Amino acid sequence: MTRVYNFSAGPAALPEAVLERARSELLDYAGTGMSVMEMSHRSKAFIDIAARAEADLRSLLAVPEDYAVLFLQGGASAQFAAVPLNLSAAGDTAAYVNTGAWSTKAIAEAKRYAEVSVVASSESGNFSHVPPQAEWKMPASAAYLHVTPNETIGGVAYDFIPDVADVPLVADYSSSILSGPLDVSRFGVIYAGAQKNIGPAGLTLVIVRKDLLGRARDITPAMLDWQVAAEADSMYNTPPTYGWYLAGLVFAWLQEQGGLAAMADINRRKAQTLYDAIDASNFYSSPVAKANRSQMNVPFLLADSALDKAFLAAAEERGLTNLGGHRSVGGMRASLYNAVSQEAVDALVAFMGDFEREHG
Ligand SMILES: *Cc1c(COP(=O)(O)O)cnc(C)c1O
Repeated sequence: MTRVYNFSAGPAALPEAVLERARSELLDYAGTGMSVMEMSHRSKAFIDIAARAEADLRSLLAVPEDYAVLFLQGGASAQFAAVPLNLSAAGDTAAYVNTGAWSTKAIAEAKRYAEVSVVASSESGNFSHVPPQAEWKMPASAAYLHVTPNETIGGVAYDFIPDVADVPLVADYSSSILSGPLDVSRFGVIYAGAQKNIGPAGLTLVIVRKDLLGRARDITPAMLDWQVAAEADSMYNTPPTYGWYLAGLVFAWLQEQGGLAAMADINRRKAQTLYDAIDASNFYSSPVAKANRSQMNVPFLLADSALDKAFLAAAEERGLTNLGGHRSVGGMRASLYNAVSQEAVDALVAFMGDFEREHG
């Protein structure tokens, strides 16, 4: 068996220990004689798996008691609609900050349901930074403010948590949740598709302050209504059981690594290794403002884009895979989620040095 160094932006690398554990339990989970995939979601075995996953997540992120944790489907993209449907009434203004491709999509979806006010945008700067909050133009009243703390495609990350007083702060944390500690109490809602830093695709995590439940519009599909999900312990319909189980294994693995403070140290060092290599070279460059460089998704450009194909092919030969930038922006992107080791980053940096010596 050969495992590659996988820098995919999502679905992304999972910890090998988690995959091993899943394999060992694949045919017979804990003496039940069946796979978790084959189990009723109402069975005691699965209810225990689900409850343990939630408890471990709550402990990792220190989620306060007055927040509900929901395990849903539909990806972060379904939450683009769920957010306005759950938090605004028809005609309300919803505030959004536009920092890249994912905020743009969230805004487009919200416009179907609410009056969207884009309070700041870095589009004219090619989405290479986060507009400082002092420049934001908040409307007189807003049902909520939506931000994308880590833009997965542009590799742009907030270096602050917005201060919005009484306006519920909603954050799409799809690509940076669990990369380090987070003060959940600053947010009304946090949501994330699982396939970046949580588990396999098909599961979506929503953490919502309980006083924000029960406000959904009448037209809200039951499947998007957080209150419906909360009342049913995320089992209003059949939940994505296997993804939930795997996420639980990832949460347990994170605890074994020392929790999110330990992960933050590891992630800081990994990102530093790669950015240092980029900055030390005239051959590679980062398109992102230094203060807003993402630790999870690192886009970089070759001085001569005609070499992009050769770079990707040579990387592939060294077992370094999924380094192509998103199809909308080109260039390169290395995603350094929790399951990507320092060893993988070291191998990437060594390869980049070799490639530069050969072609620079
Ligand atoms: C991947 C991603 C999404 C889309 O997630 P889906 O689960 O595919 O809907 C949305 N926002 C961000 C920040 C992402 O990284």
